[in-house]
Amino acid sequence: SRSGGAGHLLLFPFLAQGHLIPFLNLAKRFESLGQRGGSGQRRLDVTIVSTPRNVPSLRRALPAGSSIGFAELPFSPSDHGLPPDTENLEVVPLDAFPTFFYATELLRTSFDKLLAELAGREGRRNVCVLADMFLGWTAESARALGVQHRMFVTSGAYASAVTFSIWLRPPSFPRPAGPDDEQALLDFPDVRIRYAEFLNVVVKEDYATNPMLAHLCRMLTLHFRHSGGILVNTSEEIEPTGLRLIGKLSGLPTFAVGPIIGGRTAPDDTAPDQDTCIKFLDSKPQASVLYVSFGSQNSIPASQMMELARGLEASGRPFIWVMRPPVESDGAKEFRAEWLPDGFEERVSAAGQGVVVRGWAPQVRILAHASTGAFLSHCGWNSVLESLWHGVPVLAWPLIADQMFDSRVLLELGVGVEVASGRMIGGLGSKGWEFVRDVVETVLGDGDKARDMRLKATVMKKLVRAAVGAADGDGNGNIGKGSSVLAMERLLDSAFD
Ligand code: UDP
Repeated sequence: SRSGGAGHLLLFPFLAQGHLIPFLNLAKRFESLGQRGGSGQRRLDVTIVSTPRNVPSLRRALPAGSSIGFAELPFSPSDHGLPPDTENLEVVPLDAFPTFFYATELLRTSFDKLLAELAGREGRRNVCVLADMFLGWTAESARALGVQHRMFVTSGAYASAVTFSIWLRPPSFPRPAGPDDEQALLDFPDVRIRYAEFLNVVVKEDYATNPMLAHLCRMLTLHFRHSGGILVNTSEEIEPTGLRLIGKLSGLPTFAVGPIIGGRTAPDDTAPDQDTCIKFLDSKPQASVLYVSFGSQNSIPASQMMELARGLEASGRPFIWVMRPPVESDGAKEFRAEWLPDGFEERVSAAGQGVVVRGWAPQVRILAHASTGAFLSHCGWNSVLESLWHGVPVLAWPLIADQMFDSRVLLELGVGVEVASGRMIGGLGSKGWEFVRDVVETVLGDGDKARDMRLKATVMKKLVRAAVGAADGDGNGNIGKGSSVLAMERLLDSAFD
């Protein structure tokens, strides 16, 4: 239904860095699709909705001349008992998280006004809201005004489907339950989860009476009832299973528009590490180096840090390790020698075997480097997408929340092996440094498994790049479009008259 009219996408991310950046990147994708004529005969406008303190930094992240617009909703943190300036989850104290989530629902009055004005001016069938999973009330607002609405999930499809199912219809574990006791999910009998994974996802044991969880469930239910579909930051090639599950759970059409990656930048003061990493990689053979990182905030217990260090050293393989103080140090700034084997850093550095990074590593440049052979990762969704994008096999060491389900995606694709079983405390369990050494060898060595994983990772690299770009078509000059580009076009066709 391409009328030659206009289409206006109104993107509304949750006020958290991990949500603002993917939404900004999605906005850029739609902007360039519109410029390439991928929106049919339709003119496409893209506007991001946020609050006064978030808009300027989003605007700064856009290239000069970008046509992406912004709409500002008034938000006064102190009205909600929050410290002044808390307009982004990154600066909200942990105990104020629920207050912050509830406060975002109070943006509704001003959002409704904005939406009504826009629909009145441009025609309600020319506007479509793309909103964050935590802003389910926007679906009700859009429905009331006769405006189209889709939800955009910034994490993976499989992890989201499993997490949403656990939130909405928690399986009952026999009590007392051990961390490894398993239950099938009520919505997906084929998916089994461990008690430890269950607790990680519902955050607390008091899930039955937890008001924060009730809020999240209400947001999801509003989406499922009133929205017209779900966009996910994944591609059909990466998550056929996850997309099927989330479609089944929500009863809504899904649009796999990813992978959408990039945009995370380093805090300036840690820049020196960047050169060290790249120089080290430049000095090593192709696909020989292991990159080790647990993401931008997580860490492992000291005892496991010790085993990991011993295992890496014993493997003899070169590595770059982005190291943060252990979990139990409770955000310590200083790094204490007792957390590592005696003389570890001096030895691996003198031998040219390893680089320890204590600040911010240039992860994307490392993964893109030809010398990088594998990634020991906590399997945060961005790290998963970046490893697939660069064709780097993963040693999975998930820690909390959706990471445990994200790692399953890599295992299913045959591009990952599990090192630790995914619990903040249990983690490596009774497996010691010998196990770490052996897994490193399995992935970086010359065995069949290593060859197979490398091959599969190379295939995935081609597939995910083809998904978002224009790939060569049938060889007769007919240019085919990638699955994610087609999903974006399908979305526009479904949203606008
Ligand atoms: N990142 C980085 N350098 C670091 C740590 C993280 O560039 O030292 C980037 C990484 O490339 C990824 C993001 O920060 O894009 C981390 O996101 P992910 O979802 O993997 O994990 P999280 O930090 O949210 O747990």
